[in-house]
Amino acid sequence: MAERRRKFWGWGYEDQGPNLEQKQHLAARMAKRFGLGTLELTPPPAESELKLRAPRVSAPDSLADICVSSAYERVLHSYGRDFRDLVRIFRRDFSNPFDVVAYPRDEADVVRVLEWCDGAKLAAVPFGGGSSVVGGVEPPARGDYRGAVSIDLSRLGKVLEVDKLSRAARIQAGVLGPALDEQLRPYGYTIRHFPQSFEFSSLGGWIATRSGGHFATNYTHIDDFVESLRIVTPTGIIESRRLPGSGAGPSPDRMFIGSEGILGVITEAWMRLQDRPKFRAGASVTFKDIFAAAEAVRVIAQAALFPANCRVLDPGEALNSGAGNGEEAVMVLAFESADHPLDAWIARAAEICKAYGGKVPDDAIKTRTEADATHGGAAGAWRNAFLNAPYLMDTVAALGMVSNTFETAITWDRFADFHRQMTQCATQAVKRVCGKGSVTCRFTHVYPDGPAPYYTILASGRRGSEIEQWDEIKAEISDLLIKLGGTITHHHAVGRYHRPWYDRQRPEGFARALRAAKRELDPHAILNPGVLIDP
Ligand SMILES: Cc1cc2nc3c(=O)[nH]c(=O)nc-3n(C[C@H](O)[C@H](O)[C@H](O)COP(=O)(O)OP(=O)(O)OC[C@H]3O[C@@H](n4cnc5c(N)ncnc54)[C@H](O)[C@@H]3O)c2cc1C
Repeated sequence: MAERRRKFWGWGYEDQGPNLEQKQHLAARMAKRFGLGTLELTPPPAESELKLRAPRVSAPDSLADICVSSAYERVLHSYGRDFRDLVRIFRRDFSNPFDVVAYPRDEADVVRVLEWCDGAKLAAVPFGGGSSVVGGVEPPARGDYRGAVSIDLSRLGKVLEVDKLSRAARIQAGVLGPALDEQLRPYGYTIRHFPQSFEFSSLGGWIATRSGGHFATNYTHIDDFVESLRIVTPTGIIESRRLPGSGAGPSPDRMFIGSEGILGVITEAWMRLQDRPKFRAGASVTFKDIFAAAEAVRVIAQAALFPANCRVLDPGEALNSGAGNGEEAVMVLAFESADHPLDAWIARAAEICKAYGGKVPDDAIKTRTEADATHGGAAGAWRNAFLNAPYLMDTVAALGMVSNTFETAITWDRFADFHRQMTQCATQAVKRVCGKGSVTCRFTHVYPDGPAPYYTILASGRRGSEIEQWDEIKAEISDLLIKLGGTITHHHAVGRYHRPWYDRQRPEGFARALRAAKRELDPHAILNPGVLIDP
């Protein structure tokens, strides 16, 4: 049977995603929404259109059995899944592909691949699921490298050991979300870290990018689940101790969590696990606007109720996901537990929402067991839209729209002014650069000291200039975001796309220390050049 292949031009496997009729339906909806004429769909590139430069290097004989250089493999690994990536793919711009893709079978292979790259002056870029939205997995465009090798970790896909007493597991870094959860299921455990990209992102990628998952409060980032790490660097293997906590100096794990492939290849991690939830309680609460909802969310976060979900959708975002009528903001609130009913928690959260003008449906204050849990109503609509969205991204790009997101975090004392200014700036930039479009916002995560607002821009593009239009909008909003004290990313990582603003956000002394760590671990600067720092 033929192997199921990933699309090199979009999200998912080749047999997944909308059919032509569904794409045309989306085109008609988009045209109607923004008052545009007929939107033409550019077809995705066929494999026969992949005319690439010849590989500049080939793998040595000793690595030939784990290396490939087909056009499909080279292109699949040369782009992440951001709007800029999709537009370049639909433009048939394959001007800077990897030369070789390596598929190590074990850690020893990772060591051998890095030795080859180090000795031959080849850029080496770790690849997990390839879902980067910040230009994190592509070959460097500059530098005196003799070639570039993508290191695909998908063969390192196993749960190796489960410690039931400590509720932790030793897991290989290349495993994708669904395969990881399947391997933990027989033990009654789950990783319970569900980024929207869960289906096609890996444990190593989550750790390397400090991804943000399913929990809207408390355990927001992957950092909270990492117990220890094992990393292959060009100068040797580093492994940290398994500990539930430690005050022994700066944390070695913290140096590699978020290192985006520039310091080493994460091959394994001991991860803290969760029991599979049995009890759930949830509600969709409506508020007059995002500011009223934000007040309620702040109080819920500061009351240490720790809801698993506490997402606030502004009226536009609620309308787009089918969770609201476009007039009101919606808070999608959910508690979950493997241990106890949640009536007291949802009741207290509902009380707080009401105190801030929230309208709470009567059936909200009730725990359901996993078996009765349905995903209906506004929360269900939001969930379905959330899970479907990745499959529509390439169609939106194929229609010539400008569509992207920016996400950040800010303390509560600055939130209201920050949100007003960011929305105004983004709306004006969209109007000036694109003419017609929308800017919407939701909170993906909330903390006792502030929210993580996530903005979505959808606008009509000019064929052939969509990337340039987005870059102009992005520069304007990113400049303001940094000026107002936000972070250039809350969970999407820095990669190459956020570099100019990350450089301004990061303290200079820290930049020097990071460069020194890079020199020590990767003296020939082969690992992911241009990401986070200049080599
Ligand atoms: C539709 C969509 C939805 C998304 N939703 C979320 C979300 O909800 N939350 C979130 O945080 N992010 C999200 N992202 C961004 C992306 O999925 C995350 O950054 C994710 O953690 C990347 O994992 P990956 O395995 O795909 O990594 P890749 O894209 O393969 O790599 C990302 C970076 O990590 C490095 N890397 C990968 N594996 C390793 C390793 N083993 N060792 C060292 N370095 C490594 C790469 O070199 C690269 O710099 C989304 C992206 C898309 C396209």
